Parts: sequence; structure tokens; C-alpha cells
Amino acid sequence: MLRDVEPGSTVDCAHCGERVKFQAKVRHRQVICNVYVKGVWNRVEHFHSECYSLAGEPHGPVDTTPVVRTRARAAERRPA
Ligand SMILES: [Zn+2]
Repeated sequence: MLRDVEPGSTVDCAHCGERVKFQAKVRHRQVICNVYVKGVWNRVEHFHSECYSLAGEPHGPVDTTPVVRTRARAAERRPA
């Protein structure tokens, strides 16, 4: 999934090894991947958005669905 880099982020990019750091002037994007091994969650890998592309999208296409929209849909109530 693609997310904005948050202030105070202390994760390293799994591709280039450099810190995925928050910079107020530049709205960096990061790709967060939940990695499953044999169907079991193993770890989270972080990439700079550009590094993820350079790495050949190792965990598949990025899900760019905004979290807000997903939450809004979940909160919808069906008419009685
Ligand atoms: Zn990187």
C-alpha cells in the first residue's frame, strides 16, 4: 500500500537501505508491504515509492486505495 511518510519515521528502505524519512518540504511517499511467508504474516517492509518501482514491485502492484474511503465504506449502514 502507498502511504505518506509520517513524521518521526524510523524505518529503512528495503531496496536502497536508506532511511525513509519525513521531510516537510517534500511529501515523500512510501510503500508499506506486509510480507507473508507460507500464508503467515512475517514482517513489514518499507520502500521509497520510487525504490519500489525500481525493485520491480517485489510484492505486487501497489494498493493505492485511500484508507479513508475504506473506512467510510465499512461505516456505511444498510437501510433497514
Ligand atoms: Zn529507497
